[in-house]
Amino acid sequence: MSNISIFIPHEGCPQNCSFCNQKIISGQTKRVTAQQVDSILKRALSDLSDRAERAQIAFFGGSFTAIDREYMTELLEAAAPYANRFDGIRVSTRPDAVDEEVLSLLKSYSVKAVELGAQSMNDEVLRKNNRGHTAEDVRNACRLIRKAGMELGVQMMTGLYGANALSDTYTAEELIKLSPDTVRIYPTVVLRATELDTLFRAGRFTPQTLDEAVELCVNLIEMFESAGVKIIRLGLHASTDIEKNYVAGAYHPAFKELCLSRIYFRRVMNEIGALPCGKYTVYVNPGCLSQAIGQHSDNVIRFRKMGYDIKFKPQNSLEKYEIRINRECF
Ligand code: SF4
Repeated sequence: MSNISIFIPHEGCPQNCSFCNQKIISGQTKRVTAQQVDSILKRALSDLSDRAERAQIAFFGGSFTAIDREYMTELLEAAAPYANRFDGIRVSTRPDAVDEEVLSLLKSYSVKAVELGAQSMNDEVLRKNNRGHTAEDVRNACRLIRKAGMELGVQMMTGLYGANALSDTYTAEELIKLSPDTVRIYPTVVLRATELDTLFRAGRFTPQTLDEAVELCVNLIEMFESAGVKIIRLGLHASTDIEKNYVAGAYHPAFKELCLSRIYFRRVMNEIGALPCGKYTVYVNPGCLSQAIGQHSDNVIRFRKMGYDIKFKPQNSLEKYEIRINRECF
C-alpha cells in the first residue's frame, strides 16, 4: 500500500544541499495549504475506501520540523482528524531539526513515524554536499525518535560528491547500528540548477554510473535486509519533472527492479559458475520470476554470452531470492 504523499517543498529550509532542487524533486512550487491537505485526504479516503487504513498520510519533500511552526501546525491540524482513518501520519525531516519538544508536538497530532534525511554518515561527505549537519546529529535525532516511541526511518544517498563505495558502505553500517525500522536508498542524480550540476559541468564531480549504483545497492540491500531493516524505497520516484531536469547520474525509472535482478544474477552465478556450460533450468519463487529473468531478459542474455542457456521457471515452494538449479539433459 502506498502513502498519501503530500510534498512540502523547501519550506523553511536554510540549506542548499548540493543535489537538491526541491521544487523539481517534489514536482511543485506552490505552498500546500491546510485546505488542500483536507481535500487530498478526503479524496484519498473515498478512493481507497477500506484500504485506507493500510496507507499512511506522509508529509515529504522538505524539512517538515524546520518549517515555520505556525504553518507546520496548520498542516498537522488539517491531517490529524484523518489520522485514525489511515495508518497515522509520517513526516520526513532533517536530523538537526529534531528535539524532544517537536517530537512531542508531532505525537500529539498522531504522527507515528519520522524519517530522517541522513544521506551520509561521513562528516566530510556531509560537509562537501552542504548538508549543514553532522553524523552525530543523525545519531542524536535517531535516539530521540526511538525514545519518543516513534517509528524511525532513515534515508541515505549513494555516490554523493566526495563519497565512494567504501564511505557509502560505512554509512549503511552506521545507520544499521541505529536500528531504524525503514530505510530509503537514493543513488545521487544530478539535476539541473543544483550545485552538483555546476560541479559536474566543471568536471569536478563524476556521478556513479547506473551499473556502479546497482552493484553497490545490491550490497546495501543485503546489509539492510539481513539486519531486519525494511527497504521502502530504492531510487528516486520516476517522474516527468525528474526526467526533464536530469543531467547525469544513476537514474532509472525501475531502479529497484534492476537491483533485484542483479541479486538473482549474483545468486545464480555463485552456483552455476562452478558448473560446466550448457542448458539449465533455474527455479525461483513465482513472484520473483520477472526479476530473475531481468528487464528485457538481461540476465538470460548475460548468461547466454557466458555459455549458459538458462530457462527461469516458477516454483511455489521457493522463498524470495531462493533458487534451485537443474542441469538439462541434451
Ligand atoms: S535540507 Fe532538504 S530541502 Fe533543504 S536543501 Fe537539503 S535536501 Fe533540499
